[in-house]
Formats: sequence, structure tokens, C-alpha cells
Amino acid sequence: MPKLMLRHDRPNCIGCAACAAIAPDFWEMAADDKSDIKNSAKLEDGTEERSIEEKEFAINKDAAESCPVNVISIWDDDKKEKLA
Ligand code: SF4
Repeated sequence: MPKLMLRHDRPNCIGCAACAAIAPDFWEMAADDKSDIKNSAKLEDGTEERSIEEKEFAINKDAAESCPVNVISIWDDDKKEKLA
């Protein structure tokens, strides 16, 4: 099974809240009006990431596709391949 990594280019998030509406188990709105991946690691460049299970892929793909500025992505972290 590939190691799936959910990533958020948080500095470019415009805070539309679509991700949090679609996948509230994974996404929430923060006090600064941007979204956060729940329980994620915060990287120095402002990106957030969290590994997810295969069964969690579809709902986060829906969130990624709903994002108007395409700052949500899902990666096969072993192959460094973008899946959504
Ligand atoms: S859908 Fe995209 S722009 Fe909107 S809050 Fe979520 S990450 Fe930010």
C-alpha cells in the first residue's frame, strides 16, 4: 500500500472553507481565517502535511478538487508522485 501524504500549501490558502465543509474530519478553519489539516505537521515554509490511509483518500480528493486555488494535494510519498 502506498504511503499517502495529504499536503496543504497553507500560505496560499484563501480561506474559502470548502475543504472544512467537505471533509470536516480532516480540515478545520483556524483563527486567521485559513484552514488547517487537523493533527498535521507544520513545516517551516508554512506547508502542513499528514499521512492518511487509503480509505481516507476519496474524501480528501473531494476536498482537493473543491479548492479554488489548488493548494491541497495528495501524494504517494514513496514514489513522490502526485495523486490528487
Ligand atoms: S478549500 Fe482551499 S482555499 Fe479554501 S480553505 Fe480549503 S485549502 Fe483554503
